[in-house]
Formats: sequence, C-alpha cells, structure tokens
Amino acid sequence: MLSNTFDLQLVAKVKSLLDAAQRIVIFSHMGPDGDAMGSSLGMYHYLVNSQPIAKTERSVAVIVPNAFPEFLAWMPGSEDVMVFEQQPEECATRVAEADLCICLDFNDPKRIGPAADSLVQNTCPKLLIDHHLNPADFATITLSKPQASSTCELVCRLFYGLSDENAEGISGLKGEAGQKIATCLYTGLMTDTGNFSYNSNNPDLYEIVAQLMRAGIEKDQIYDRVFNQSSEDRMRLTGYCLYRKMRLFPEHHLALITLSIEELKQFNYKQGDTEGIVNMPLQMGDIFYSVFMREQEPKPGTTKNVVKVSFRSQGDRPVNIMAGEVFRGGGHMNASGGEYYGTVQAAARLFLREYEKYLNK
Ligand code: 5GP
Ligand code: MN
Repeated sequence: MLSNTFDLQLVAKVKSLLDAAQRIVIFSHMGPDGDAMGSSLGMYHYLVNSQPIAKTERSVAVIVPNAFPEFLAWMPGSEDVMVFEQQPEECATRVAEADLCICLDFNDPKRIGPAADSLVQNTCPKLLIDHHLNPADFATITLSKPQASSTCELVCRLFYGLSDENAEGISGLKGEAGQKIATCLYTGLMTDTGNFSYNSNNPDLYEIVAQLMRAGIEKDQIYDRVFNQSSEDRMRLTGYCLYRKMRLFPEHHLALITLSIEELKQFNYKQGDTEGIVNMPLQMGDIFYSVFMREQEPKPGTTKNVVKVSFRSQGDRPVNIMAGEVFRGGGHMNASGGEYYGTVQAAARLFLREYEKYLNK
C-alpha cells in the first residue's frame, strides 16, 4: 500500500522497545501545534489500546512544555495531557520513572525547553520520530524523514510497519480506539499541510487519509473544529495585523508583521490566537516570504522580553538558514522559527538589517 516506509529491521527494533515498556512518556515541542498534539495523542491511544501490555500494567503520559491552543482542546485525550510549565514537579517525576521516552515532532531536546533536563537525565531508551532536518543524536532509535509532510504521517507509516502481516493496511485502527487514533493523526496531517495545500504532493498521503477515513474519522468536522472556531477577538486581531501591521517590501517579495505585548493585550490574546497569520501574506501573488513576530513577557527568572519569530516562504526559498543564524532557531525550508530576547521593535530592526543577505530570491 505505502511505497516508502521504514526499514523492517528498524521497525522490529521499535516493536521490541514498545512491547517491553511499561512506563512511557511521550514528549512534544514548545508551542504544541496540530502535528505535535496529533502525533502524541495518536501514539498515546495506540499504546494504551493496541499494544500487547494490558492497559492496567502500562502507564502512558503525554507531556508538552507549555499550553496547547484552545482550538486543539477538543482532541480525544487532550484532557490527559500534562503541561510541564504548569506542573513541573509532577512532570519531572513521570519522566524520571519512565522506562521509555518517545519524542515526537522535534529534532533536539532544546525544543522542549524546560522539560529538556528531565528527558536528558533519564538514561532509558528513547525513540525519536520527526520530520525536521538534522536530528540531534540523543535517541536510541531515530526515525527521521525530513521529506515527510508531518510527524503524523511518519507515525502512520510506523503503525503500518508494525501491522500484522495479514492486515490490509494499518492495523490498530479498529473500533472506538482506532477512531481516536485516526482522528488525532489526521489532525496533524491536515494542519502541517495547510489542509493539503503544501508539502502534500505524495500520493501515499491520500492512501493514508483513506485508511484514516475508513477508521471512522469525521474529516470535515475535524477541519471545522480546528479552523472555524475563532473568537471575535482572534478575528479582529487577524484583521488588525493585515490592515495596520503588515509591512510590504515588494522588491524582495516580502511581508513583515510585528505585534507587541500591548497590542496583544488589546485583543485579549490567548495561546494560539496568532496561529496561521504568518501564512496569510503569501496569498498575495508576488509575496514569497512572510515573517511574523510576537512579543512575550520574559521567561521566569529573566528580564528580557521574548519575541517568537515565524518564517514562511514558497518554492525554493529557504528560510531556515536565517531562522537559525539570526534567531537561534531552525525548522523546515518553507516554515521555520526562532526567538529574539528583547523588544519586538529591536527584533524587527535586526531582521531589517539582515534579511537581504538571506531572503533574496
Ligand atoms: P511556527 O512558525 O509555526 O512557530 O514554527 C514553524 C516551524 O519552525 C516549526 O515546525 C519548527 O520546525 C520551527 N521552529 C519554530 N520555532 C523554533 C525555534 O525556536 N527553534 C527551532 N529550532 N525551530 C523552530
Ligand atoms: Mn510537524
């Protein structure tokens, strides 16, 4: 069914790790998005329901470093997700006791912020499944495919590899549990491809979607829950960004939007409210690069504001180099991010000084 899945020996090794583990912790990255939550919760339901060790003997915790957006709070199992920033001690204890850590949708422990120490300190086996470039060498088994649309796609491929020989497709997608697994995995496929509008040219993706649909997902309802539940504040903030805040640099096919803490307060900003705004300037025919900056309060114990910087581009125009070299981040060729410590005005000045070196096609 799927043309390109994982090497069988590697899958066999993953199987023995999963079969043996009793206290599992699943991690995903800071600012959890649909793919982070989808892959983590898909794996969670799979391990709790479809694996040889019975439910009662196995504990599975999903830990994210900070809060996930409200538009993902409907996901099955989201009520069980532990947020490291909100319960650091409970989370650290769960990690210390774990006999397997599964790391999803990030390529370096740095990407889980405050949770990184507890992950690194536990010497238990670690399984990394991810689609970012250049995974750090910290896991016992690394399943990394940067060409994949999403981590959810890779999790589907792994489940396919783990399926019984006689199964026609991905086994484990049966009954109520299967529907939950499929719902979570579809969410990440959908969000990481902009509802199948980029990184989505591989026919395998649609084979996977067909299987997830046969498992009983409500595809259109998932779209509605993720994309059509904005608050009025969020809609107006989006309008404000496009009308008042978007600066265009036509000669460089570039748009820049910045938001200060004060501006965010005017719109009663909640986690996730600015998700997707960075993609909007690319709707203009001659804009190929878009950059979005959002200022946040200083991290605990520090004094400088943090500016989250998001980069998007179209075609063969890498933005991950600038994200890495100027904003200490990284990511994919067409979708990257980083951080700046200081005000959003200073972050914008730095960007304006440097961008011609990096974003010039
Ligand atoms: P977003 O702009 O949606 O926050 O992030 C887009 C992509 O950029 C993410 O999928 C991730 O690969 C990457 N990214 C975002 N922020 C950071 C960061 O602070 N560090 C690194 N290394 N990558 C980031
Ligand atoms: Mn992803």
